[in-house]
Amino acid sequence: MTTPTTSPPQVPDDAHLLDLAREAAGRAYVPYSAFPVGAALLLANGEVVTGCNVENASYGLTICAERTAATRMIAASRGEAGENGTTRTDDRVVVKAAVVGLKASPCFPCGACRQVLHEFGCQSVVVEEDGHPRAYSFAQILPHGFGPADLPGQEA
Ligand SMILES: [Zn+2]
Repeated sequence: MTTPTTSPPQVPDDAHLLDLAREAAGRAYVPYSAFPVGAALLLANGEVVTGCNVENASYGLTICAERTAATRMIAASRGEAGENGTTRTDDRVVVKAAVVGLKASPCFPCGACRQVLHEFGCQSVVVEEDGHPRAYSFAQILPHGFGPADLPGQEA
């Protein structure tokens, strides 16, 4: 059985994460935009989950690479969902997200994806600028973000 996560021998650096995102972009389903994007999420347990954008003829049902990766992360996590499905095991926490657009550099996450990455604790986003990795803190790309900690009784 194929698992959506890989276990590298060590925590990948930013350049390696971008390579994994680029590889995922090569699997994108983009018959309408021809704008392939890949994302690689480094999780708190050191594993990496990738995703690519998947378009739909309805356009509105298209899902971005970052959200594909986040949903794969949750679906593949080992931890049992706690009450209301909120358990935060280290395989459900994003440390860093690398994003590559094969036709755009840098390629930043859209607003919807920034919100979803914030949900899972993402601390920084890595993009490619002039052929080199560049990391941005999450506070830079989503200042004053609204997240789980803003709801009463929810864990951060
Ligand atoms: Zn997006």
